[in-house]
Parts: sequence; structure tokens; C-alpha cells
Amino acid sequence: MAKKFYITTPIYYVNDVPHVGHAYTTLAADVIARYCRQKLSKENVFFLTGTDEHGANVAQAAAKHGKTPKEYADEVSPRFQEAWKLLDIEPDYFIRTTDPRHKKIAQEVLQKIYDKGYIYSGDYEGWYCIGCEKFLTESDLIDGKCPLHPTREPVYQKEKNYFLKLKELSQQVLKRIEQGEYHILPEKRHNEIVTRVKQGVEDISISRAGVSWGIPVPWDKTQTIYVWVEALFNYYTATQFIEGKQKFWPPNLHLMAKDILWFHSVIWQALLIAAGLELPKTIFAHGFFTIDGQKMSKSLGNVISPEQLVNTYGVDGTRYLLLSAYQFGSDGDLSLAKFTERYNADLANGLGNLIARTAKVSSGVTLSKHLNITFENVSTDEYKKALEQYRFQDALAFIWEKIKFADKLVDDNEPWKLKGKDLEEFIQRVIPHIQEIATLLLPFLPQTAEKILEQFKGPTIVSQPALFPRIQ
Ligand SMILES: [Zn+2]
Repeated sequence: MAKKFYITTPIYYVNDVPHVGHAYTTLAADVIARYCRQKLSKENVFFLTGTDEHGANVAQAAAKHGKTPKEYADEVSPRFQEAWKLLDIEPDYFIRTTDPRHKKIAQEVLQKIYDKGYIYSGDYEGWYCIGCEKFLTESDLIDGKCPLHPTREPVYQKEKNYFLKLKELSQQVLKRIEQGEYHILPEKRHNEIVTRVKQGVEDISISRAGVSWGIPVPWDKTQTIYVWVEALFNYYTATQFIEGKQKFWPPNLHLMAKDILWFHSVIWQALLIAAGLELPKTIFAHGFFTIDGQKMSKSLGNVISPEQLVNTYGVDGTRYLLLSAYQFGSDGDLSLAKFTERYNADLANGLGNLIARTAKVSSGVTLSKHLNITFENVSTDEYKKALEQYRFQDALAFIWEKIKFADKLVDDNEPWKLKGKDLEEFIQRVIPHIQEIATLLLPFLPQTAEKILEQFKGPTIVSQPALFPRIQ
């Protein structure tokens, strides 16, 4: 593992409010960041998230609410920050693209690309989906409509734009992928991207003439930088304008859902190559999920908010259920009925019950030996490997095997029948297992892990209220 670790999530669009999809990506990033902080220390990790606040979409949403785009962004952006706080997600910085410091550096980078001759002026003509904020090709359209935004008519646009020489740059991108300079994960996604680049890539427009809510193109103030391009720059601008973060460039890991992988694995890399900047190390695209077998959508009314989950399962319950639902990287289903079932089985009965019964038999006994459990001496290769390959489900399964083992230790020894020295000996034997479990849980269930470590640090152990009360 590298000596420093820079991890990002996409910056989320403020025309939407936080839902479980945003939470899923950001939570995964938080677990990796927490794991890296344990391994590399806090100052060697930089976890960045934020909000994307420009573009016609935001301007339209603001107008609908009778606000200026900036007022609207100022209102929605904190909702993301609050959602992350609620889920105990701790980014090191929350970037907003309306920050003037972001604007200045984004313009400088674009100017550099222009000066190097990778940008030219041309006419753009085609169907534009405001929902996606992008031009769609004929093959993208289904019955003349954007498949993602069937209720929003695509608009036929013809305008002067600036274009990035993506066709030429994509060959350099391909070379860098093939040389292993940066990695696209999972493997399946790597193959998809490589195939698509080999099929041929067209130049893309990177500015807009008709969108005033954006960052002006530095050499032509009649145009604004295409919001997608400008948003990608955030990963770089943050490291430049936040004091002491320059050393974190390039990112070790960009995390995202698979729908925006193309932007991150090809367009973003092309921009960086054009600007002469180092490339990110790894790009990981996780899958989509359905809610009880159905696509999550406003019209179906099945959009789940982080608050809803936290109100039912608690903060750590939500963190556990989201990351153990299916393997990170694949598509999967989130079923609330199964969530409740697994909450009761794994958290109320499994972890919660082990802690409660161990504390009960230990209460009042004074520990004689001092225990020294640290993250480094308990996190075995199997656990580390799972986390470093972003297999959260496997890392959790590894911890739950240890919970089962400790449970069996309690069952087999029937400590409630023991007294005096025998009881003390048993407690000295079982508590290191509890401490190990709690230590391994730190990146996943930080509050619970801290509570358990505090409860069992000795010298005397006291029973506490149930960690995960059963849900009926
Ligand atoms: Zn669309």
C-alpha cells in the first residue's frame, strides 16, 4: 500500500437531495478512508467529497423554486454534508464547485490544455438532454427520448463550442491503461472501457454557449466550461487550494457508480494527459441496485433517504446493512424486509448478544492482565486483502466468523456456572477476542467499535444497554 492515500467520491449534483445511492458510494469511501487512517495515520489520508453546483439543470431547479442558482446551491449543499454527518461519514474536505478557488484553478488548467493545442473551436449540432447535461447520439435515444429522462424532451441544439481532441488523446489513454499506469476495476469494467476506446472515440464539446450558470471559458467569456468537465477538475483543484494537500496528487482511488465510469476513466484521463498532470492510480465503479427488485425512482415513490434507514436501523446498523447486502462492484438488490431480518440475526443476536452476555459474566471481575490490542496486530492478511480489494462483504464475513468463534467459546465454557479463579481465567481468554472483533469493526461500525473497546478496556467491566435492540 502507498505511503499516502487520496480517495474521492463523485461530487453530487445539487438538483437532487441525498438518497441511498449517494450514501452507498460515500459510505464505501468512508470505510476505506478509515481503514487507511488506521494503517497510514490520519495525516497521510485525504478523503474528498462535495457538491457539483453549476449547469442548466441547477439553474432550472433554482428557477422552479424561485431562487438564484447560488441561493439554491447554498440550500441543498448542506443537506449532503448533514447526511454524511448523520451516517458518521467523515470526509477530510467537502468541496463546492461554486468556491471561487475551484473556479480559478479550473480555468488555469483549461487554459493550459488550450495553450497546448488540445482544444479547438467548432460547431456542435445534436440532441441534448438537460437531465443528463449531455449530448446524446441517435443510438442513445429510445423513441426519440433519453432513456434516463423519458419525461424531459431532448432539445436539438446547434451552437459554437470548444472541442477537446479526445479522439487523439484517447489513444494515449489506452496506452496508459495497457501499460498498467492506472487501473479500472472491477475487471469487467476495464474490459468494457478498453473495448469502447478501441471501437473509436469522437472529439467532445467541452464548453456551452447557452449555459450562463457556470465557469467562464478563460479565453472566451461568451462560453462556460461544460459542467461535467469542470466538475471533474474538482479532484485536482481541491489538492491545490487546500493548504498542505498538494502532496496528495494524484488520487489513489476514484470511487463511483458505473454510469459515470466513462467520464472518469477516459475523458478525465484525457484532460489530465492534455494538461500534463499525473493520472489517478485506480478507478473503481460499483454497480447499481434495485429496491425490493425495482429500480429506485421518484415516480415509483421508492427513493430511500439516509434518514429513513438511520431512523430504523441506527447509524452503524445502516452502515452494516448497506455494505453487507451484496458484493461491492456487482449489481444487487436492497430489500428492507431482508435488512430487518439481517439486522436481527447479525447485529441484535450476533454481535449485540455476544457483547451483552460477555459483559454480563465479566461484570464485577477485575482484570489482572493488561491487554494490548492494536489495529496492526489484529488485522490479518485475509481481512486486509479484502479491504484493499474493496470486498467489503468478505471483510465483514471475516469479522462475523470471529464473532461466531467467540460465541462458541462462551457456549462451550458456560461461564455463568464458573466462579473465582476459573471465571477470571475464562474472562482473560475471551476478552482479547472481543477486543479484536471491535478493532476490526472500527472502519465499518466506528461508534459501536469504540463503545465495545471502551467497555472492555478494564480493569473492571460493566454491562451496558443493548448495542442493537431487536426490531419487531
Ligand atoms: Zn437524460
